[in-house]
Amino acid sequence: MRALALTLEAIAAHSTTEGKLRAAAAYLAAQEADRLGVAARMLAGAPLPPGTPATRVGRSTVLEVVCTLAAADRGRLVGRARLLGDLGTAVGELLADRRATGPRLSLGEVAEMLGRLGRVGSTRRRRLLSELYARATPLEAKYLTKLLLGSLRTGMQAARVEQAIALAFDRPVQAVRRAHMLLGDLGATAERAAAGTLAGVTLRAFRPVRSMLAYSCADVDEVVEVIGLPAFAEPKYDGIRAQLHLVDGVVRLYSRALEEVSHLFPEVRTPPPGLTGEWILDGELVAWRAGRPLPFATLQRRLGRRQVPLTLLLDAPAAFLAFDVLRSDGADLIDAPLSRRKQALDRLPARGPVCGAPWARVATRAQVQAAFRRALRAGHEGVVFKVPDSSYTPGVRGRAWAQLKRPLATLAVVVTGAEYGRGKRAGMLSDMVFAVRDGRGGLLECGRAHSGLTDAEMRELTALFRTHTIARAGSLRRVRPSVVLEVAFDQVRRSSRYPSGYALRFPRILRRRTDLGVDEAACIEDLRRLCARRPRP
Ligand code: AMP
Repeated sequence: MRALALTLEAIAAHSTTEGKLRAAAAYLAAQEADRLGVAARMLAGAPLPPGTPATRVGRSTVLEVVCTLAAADRGRLVGRARLLGDLGTAVGELLADRRATGPRLSLGEVAEMLGRLGRVGSTRRRRLLSELYARATPLEAKYLTKLLLGSLRTGMQAARVEQAIALAFDRPVQAVRRAHMLLGDLGATAERAAAGTLAGVTLRAFRPVRSMLAYSCADVDEVVEVIGLPAFAEPKYDGIRAQLHLVDGVVRLYSRALEEVSHLFPEVRTPPPGLTGEWILDGELVAWRAGRPLPFATLQRRLGRRQVPLTLLLDAPAAFLAFDVLRSDGADLIDAPLSRRKQALDRLPARGPVCGAPWARVATRAQVQAAFRRALRAGHEGVVFKVPDSSYTPGVRGRAWAQLKRPLATLAVVVTGAEYGRGKRAGMLSDMVFAVRDGRGGLLECGRAHSGLTDAEMRELTALFRTHTIARAGSLRRVRPSVVLEVAFDQVRRSSRYPSGYALRFPRILRRRTDLGVDEAACIEDLRRLCARRPRP
């Protein structure tokens, strides 16, 4: 663990990508074969191999365990973390004078203990975590915290680790990328790269791959810009993403986290008639009643159980709606265009526990708009638009799929800062920081947005912000609070990034509210209330 912590510290300190890659590659090249997989995952900040249950350790458990160990005040640690912008750094600082006790932590042991955290009850989890922190040096504790909370922030996301693997073992980066895509695991990818067996990686039944994801669009215009026309339009189901693997009549279901969830959906385990051989389908598990989809929360009640009670099965029966085919009749289809993969979907029935999801072709902006309205009326979350000749890229949130969702809510917020935009918006103060009222006459920031206003509106605001600038912090101009915007967003999340302690997820500007004064904007209470309404984990 010591070498990993030192490497992560060195990577974070390098200001260039080249420096980061070299440090990561040197670390990987120095690993023994049986530690390489763990090392590669840790570098990317995702320590658990796919299929391992999440650690179920959040910020508050870390705070509790660390403060008990150091006999420290929780409030002070929280304050320090806020000031430093990171709990890991604050933990490292708090434990700086403390000596690690017990045997030194090896990388393999840390990986094994992290893997165990999600499998045990809360008391044993706390005990395991206390042992980890007690045996960690301050630097190890810093990175342990960051790994646990998923906030490594060394600038080495998965794509960079792929590059580092290629560099460490002198393999083409495309070969590493493709193997990672198909294996869904950086650890296994690094092992294959070291062994020189990257070329042999293919899709395999009962080995799930990561899901392809959709780019989030703010409005119909952005959908048309990102996807182009014609496109395929499908309802965005509010269910559980799943992959269905079928081999000679045996069905297994896997979640987006690549965990097997077959036992939670017994009604979906009968293969549809006529489907023989080997198939891998991508789709959504949805609960239905009276022909309408039920909200995600209905299905959520099944999660985490060993067995699903009969009443749940009867009240909210689930169906698997397949919208893509990765493998049919034993042949890989991920490189084939979506239009070809949709043909393979025609082999599935239109109804039943495993069926093909409906889709339509949209060729004009008006049809895009109509598809969105239709989906909302039918009770769906929105629409996913897809490029007809795109291939299936596992794990990638690219521009071949674009989603347009019903916003969770809208809020009137106050602009407190602005920065010049890029590209089309260069020369305009289009990147805006906004805040809500704190209820005591002050403002608390909770997000940033840049899309949604017209160029003319932006020009007008730019002129206003220039005259209203009260301070500068780097490229950000702090402006006198006077402009109120209405923003839509998908979620309110707890976040240490903004002083409010909350962040709006995917905010987009709907309009400027010239009819509202700053004292009529939303307040922190609204964020608290909306945060509790998080639609899904
Ligand atoms: P997110 O981008 O995290 O909001 O989630 C996107 C999710 O939309 C995916 O993981 C799927 O579970 C879900 N989804 C629902 N319907 C579709 C569809 N027709 N095509 C692709 N993804 C879909």
